[in-house]
Amino acid sequence: MDPALRDEIKAALVAAIGDRKVLWKPSDLLPYAADNSRMRPDEVSKHLPDIAVLPESTSDVQAVVEVAAEYKIPLIPKGGGSNRTGMLIPIHGGIVIDTIRMNKVLEVNIPNLYVTVQPGITLKELEEHLAGYGLALNQEQGSFKVATVGGSISTAGFSRKYQKYGIISDRIMSLEVVLADGRVLRTGPKVLYTSTGYRLHQLFVGAEGTLGIITEATLRVEPIPESAEVLMAFYDDIWTAYKAALRMTESGVMFVGADLSEPADPEACGAPPGKRAALCISFEGTKGEVEADVGYVKGLVRGSGGFLAGKDDAMLFYDEFTKLWCGDRALLGAEDETTAYVPTERVREFYDTLWDKIMPKYGMVPVPGNKYGIDVGRYSMSYCRFSIPERERGWEDYRMALAEVAGLAVALGGSISSCTGVGLKNKDELVLEFSDVAMETMWKIKNEFDPDDIMNPGKKLPKRKGGRLANGIGPAERKM
Ligand SMILES: Cc1cc2nc3c(=O)[nH]c(=O)nc-3n(C[C@H](O)[C@H](O)[C@H](O)COP(=O)(O)OP(=O)(O)OC[C@H]3O[C@@H](n4cnc5c(N)ncnc54)[C@H](O)[C@@H]3O)c2cc1C
Repeated sequence: MDPALRDEIKAALVAAIGDRKVLWKPSDLLPYAADNSRMRPDEVSKHLPDIAVLPESTSDVQAVVEVAAEYKIPLIPKGGGSNRTGMLIPIHGGIVIDTIRMNKVLEVNIPNLYVTVQPGITLKELEEHLAGYGLALNQEQGSFKVATVGGSISTAGFSRKYQKYGIISDRIMSLEVVLADGRVLRTGPKVLYTSTGYRLHQLFVGAEGTLGIITEATLRVEPIPESAEVLMAFYDDIWTAYKAALRMTESGVMFVGADLSEPADPEACGAPPGKRAALCISFEGTKGEVEADVGYVKGLVRGSGGFLAGKDDAMLFYDEFTKLWCGDRALLGAEDETTAYVPTERVREFYDTLWDKIMPKYGMVPVPGNKYGIDVGRYSMSYCRFSIPERERGWEDYRMALAEVAGLAVALGGSISSCTGVGLKNKDELVLEFSDVAMETMWKIKNEFDPDDIMNPGKKLPKRKGGRLANGIGPAERKM
């Protein structure tokens, strides 16, 4: 951006919200150059925003949006920065709206079982606050220590407690959103169910900051259950375990979530020799319910050739999983993951093609213990982690492998990304999954909400044919 223009915009922002909330020194902007996505080494820190702001209220956000709308410059709302697909990379510069100071709990309503919060509170902070009232949100993402409510909604966050409590999109009652022209949209009353207007709040689920900035969310909460237990069963291999897991789902027994993997060292997790696959199942409810459900599932495990681990091993595995996924793994170097939604009956075909045909072609190898990761139940999520070869063509190969895996997921009737969203990483593959009519409808929605393309431009959607929005501005013509 032209320095004189930047100074003018900075002055307008300082006048609107005060200099305490505006950052412009390069050293202050550096943390906003990246998120948790894997980038080519030579592209890291290539893009800096021009300015970052730290609003504290909806009116602060409105004031910032009004300035951006006047100058038609990009706005990138930021939560915890934990997304893995480049949603926060300021490829066109502009203003990052960091919601870190918008972290207040505004209302806990016990009779109606909801909480109203600002968007920048982390999922963990919110759980801790709610626990004081005997309540829980139950949105336990692997990233819940850092992911915010605004970020989770905007990425359609997936929680490992999906089976019993659903995911964040199931818990939204109402949102407050600042639109691209600075107006404030309230999507509806604070109710869990209505059959009146269009479900506006669902438009912002997974929108990745491209339609507006969420400034308040009202979410359904639940009483903390009386009892909780984790079961772990070991099987010879992943496909025997998968068959047993499907039988458990089909039985209709209630569980909170269930995850299947082949741990790097099964014996260290309590497995007898020769058993490679682990099925970890969690239960919550009243004491009687949990006892009955656990007893029922134990019977299914024994009947399907599984070996039941001890209670301590099961708890340890469950807790280690949280620890690993919540922190350590996020900081590792050249590796990445895919998270596809694959119809149940095609899951084996998905992994066989991925590991036997696609990945070897591009030199990608599984990270030990992460070749398979399958969630069973109402969602059919299949993920895996792989390392990216550190050779000259490594990053090009990585892109090609991702595109082929995306094509595979779609060919099997699934979705290319189930909890990592689109950002920059998957946007070119979106057209594989959606028809021309569906893509045109999405571009129209984007255009209606954001005709000047200032809301996180260049993310989520591929370029429209001709690359133009209604006002004639195309990404190529952008001046900054
Ligand atoms: C170790 C690890 C484990 C993970 N595990 C899971 C998991 O189990 N389930 C899962 O779903 N994801 C997981 N993720 C991915 C990531 O944590 C989620 O996508 C998370 O929901 C992002 O939240 P955030 O606050 O970090 O958002 P950010 O990364 O800050 O932003 C994500 C997107 O949301 C937009 N956004 C943020 N705040 C707002 C707002 N107030 N209004 C409008 N738009 C906004 C941003 O512009 C951006 O496009 C994991 C990531 C890591 C690194």
